[in-house]
Amino acid sequence: KKILYSGMQATGTLTLGNYLGALKNWVNLTDEYECIYGVMDLHSLTLRQVPAEFRKNARSLYALYVAAGLDPEKNCIYYQSHVSGHAELSWILGCFTYMGELNRMTQFKDKAAKHADNINAGLYTYPVLMAADILLYQADVVPVGVDQKQHLEITRDIAQRFNAIYGDVFTIPEAYIGKAGAKIMSLQEPEKKMSKSDENPNATIRLLDDKDTVIRKFKRAVTDSGSEIVYREDKPGISNLIDIYGCVTGKTREETEKEFDGKGYGDFKLAVGEAVAAELEPLQKRYGELMADKTYLDSMIKMNDEKAAYYSNKTLRKVQKKVGLTERI
Ligand code: ATP
Ligand code: MG
Repeated sequence: KKILYSGMQATGTLTLGNYLGALKNWVNLTDEYECIYGVMDLHSLTLRQVPAEFRKNARSLYALYVAAGLDPEKNCIYYQSHVSGHAELSWILGCFTYMGELNRMTQFKDKAAKHADNINAGLYTYPVLMAADILLYQADVVPVGVDQKQHLEITRDIAQRFNAIYGDVFTIPEAYIGKAGAKIMSLQEPEKKMSKSDENPNATIRLLDDKDTVIRKFKRAVTDSGSEIVYREDKPGISNLIDIYGCVTGKTREETEKEFDGKGYGDFKLAVGEAVAAELEPLQKRYGELMADKTYLDSMIKMNDEKAAYYSNKTLRKVQKKVGLTERI
């Protein structure tokens, strides 16, 4: 089986964007691939975290993975910070990455603009750590949202550069971009993607939002001044809602337009809210059960840390040897 690697940062609670753009699609891939999913907590440190909250979020993210349908007995689901190989490989790969390449990363520019008071080196070298995450497990495919495509490109460049010098050390990963609903936009600024680090609570639907909250947020979603429910470039708000509705119900844009022909924004927003709440309900129930059973989650975490360490050490030892680091005795 081919190896598939992906992960999410443990910053805040997952959004509907993370779910429809990534997590939900991951579940469908678990039979076809050998799947490895990380809770990317080292990446989260690029923004300042409140320790107690951060720890809670990381635990919650693990449970959300499982609640969404990933299987910790079949897939490898683990914490990035529990496997030291990520940091070790990241250092080595950093020495094979050019500042010019990192300077071109749009996510860095966006985040630096947003967090002008904390433009730290970790934020800048984030793509190098991400390259290490993927290459450490010799991943063949990486399902990423459109927002992460540039980081996957740089991962491939680094791997190819390394292989050109040292021979075939790394598998060159391919992007796997899910067909449906690749990019969900903010409910308040529909020209921006929905992001779990967004501070405006009305901009995101959180996976643990209850039904009333979901419906209220959709009712408040920013739309244009028109009244037609049609998918069009000059209607980013409504277009985003049509996409979300489509992801959840399986309806095409045209089918949704027809369904709401002659109806107003209010009716449509309510329908989207109800459809999303219904989609989240079973996931939330399972999540509650998992969080209540400490022993089960703990045992899964322990077992998977070991699995991940095994895979990653194999690559790391090989890399260390290739670059000429002294062998351990
Ligand atoms: P942050 O603001 O902390 O960067 P994020 O919401 O962008 O949070 P990530 O942890 O960076 O989340 O990404 C997790 C996964 O979710 C990635 O595969 C990413 O491509 C996907 N993803 C993130 N936001 C969206 C979105 N709005 N639409 C679709 N997929 C998304
Ligand atoms: Mg992101």
